[in-house]
Amino acid sequence: MNRRSEKHMPYFHVLEALQKAQGCPLCHLEYEGVRRCLDGLLYESVNDPDVRAKLVQSRGYCCRHAHLLLSLESGLGTAILYQDQVKLFMEFIAGMSRNTHRFHRRKPSDGWNDRALCPACRLQMQERDLSVSVLMEWLHDEEMRRAFEASAVLCAPHFLILLDAVQAHDLRDYVIATQQEKLADLLYDLGEFCRKHDYRFARERFGKERDSWRRAVLAMVGRDELF
Ligand SMILES: [Zn+2]
Ligand SMILES: [Zn+2]
Repeated sequence: MNRRSEKHMPYFHVLEALQKAQGCPLCHLEYEGVRRCLDGLLYESVNDPDVRAKLVQSRGYCCRHAHLLLSLESGLGTAILYQDQVKLFMEFIAGMSRNTHRFHRRKPSDGWNDRALCPACRLQMQERDLSVSVLMEWLHDEEMRRAFEASAVLCAPHFLILLDAVQAHDLRDYVIATQQEKLADLLYDLGEFCRKHDYRFARERFGKERDSWRRAVLAMVGRDELF
């Protein structure tokens, strides 16, 4: 068996994200992984009793993932899932009325907030763990290393998650050095962006520093809807 045939699908997934993602490749993998699953669920599994039961336990999706669901624009699938949620909430508040609500020490809202973890959050954590472990496992591979060095800067949250997972000292130093180089590039771009706003240099055209302010914010907090 040659080395290439040992590489499995997740390897190529991570490699492709390193090569193609505009921003942090781990943000890209996580976001796309969840989006793909929700999309599949809306088209294929809204009538699956197990899926519905899990959503009843979690009281639907968390706010972030409910908005991601909306962005997929699947009216019928969403309507089917959220019929359950509206009914559930109606049953819940019916139980709170004066006639039926039995006195207890808990606040009324506690009963609603005691929900299971959002299924999409659970999925997101699985995607995160998988991407980080695949990247870590293959950082000795030449092709992966090349892609990692050429990729966009990791966002601070993902960089720290990756660093927590890396055990070997040489690998940890390598990950830190690679990130430092990319952050130094970003800092340079930010400096150029600010400099070119000075009237003395106003004739200079903007280059790749044009969007450095946006990249800097994303590098510090990660993609929207992830953390
Ligand atoms: Zn990230
Ligand atoms: Zn969620």
